[in-house]
Amino acid sequence: MKLQTLSRMIPRLLIAALCAASFSARADLRILACEPEWGQLATEIGGDLVTVKTASAPGQDAHHIQARPSLLAQVRRADLVLCNGAGLEAGWLPVLLNRGGNPDVRQAPGLFLAAEQVDRLEIPTTLDRADGDVHAMGNPHVHLDPRRMISIAEQLADRFATLDPDNAARYRQQQQAWQADFEPRISAWKQQAASLAGMNVISYHRSWIYLLDWLDMHRVDELEPKPGLPPTPGHLAKLVSKAEKQKVKLILYRPINGDDAANWLASRTPACAVELPLSPGEEGTDTLASLYDTLIQRLISAHQTCKEGNA
Ligand SMILES: [Zn+2]
Repeated sequence: MKLQTLSRMIPRLLIAALCAASFSARADLRILACEPEWGQLATEIGGDLVTVKTASAPGQDAHHIQARPSLLAQVRRADLVLCNGAGLEAGWLPVLLNRGGNPDVRQAPGLFLAAEQVDRLEIPTTLDRADGDVHAMGNPHVHLDPRRMISIAEQLADRFATLDPDNAARYRQQQQAWQADFEPRISAWKQQAASLAGMNVISYHRSWIYLLDWLDMHRVDELEPKPGLPPTPGHLAKLVSKAEKQKVKLILYRPINGDDAANWLASRTPACAVELPLSPGEEGTDTLASLYDTLIQRLISAHQTCKEGNA
């Protein structure tokens, strides 16, 4: 090779080497999130340091997801499997992890179960299969309490830092910036929702327990006779007198539940049915903050129009 040719090649080789180096330092942390809320939190905290795939779509029922081959392939490639835990995915996550062929994500640090990082409500004192789809670890639907999300976000940033130590400082910075934006919203939401405090509601499933607890609202009962079982005429008939006695104002349901049972009860009581999103990506929401915004706006406006209708 002529000396001239070689001297022309050196800068190119140098550039190629530098590119390779910068790619390896910026390798994304590959995350498979079980539900959209956890995928969204990972995106909001991880920013461009993470690549997030989500196992269930907004509006799907996370209690029941198929462990399809494309999901198994994502488990195989994941650095972190980020799920709700506390029994929510008991019907499908163990299958996914066992068949995924990736032992690193079967336990921590490769597996992060969000609801198990915080206190949970409704931990049963006795467990009886006859009570339906009851979760031994308490109500798993923790993401609707933004206060618990602050704590989970902090622990998630630590987990990212453990798995990707080169970027540890950036994960913590990003999480702190997220918290600085998110935390002041919590008291603002609570203020906006002041008119809802003390209200009695019935919900389709126990999906909104943490939201109700945070906003000082009370659950009276569910349209489901037992968790996971569809409403029956006998159970709905009992709810009519219960709703009247306990002055239930709103009946909460998700699009996936259908509105039949909620509308049936609303037509026989002074209560009003309101359709609510459960996860970001549903009903025009995208970020976690916009999910809480929408939930509170929906509840306030349902209460308002319901009162007018019943005046
Ligand atoms: Zn549930």
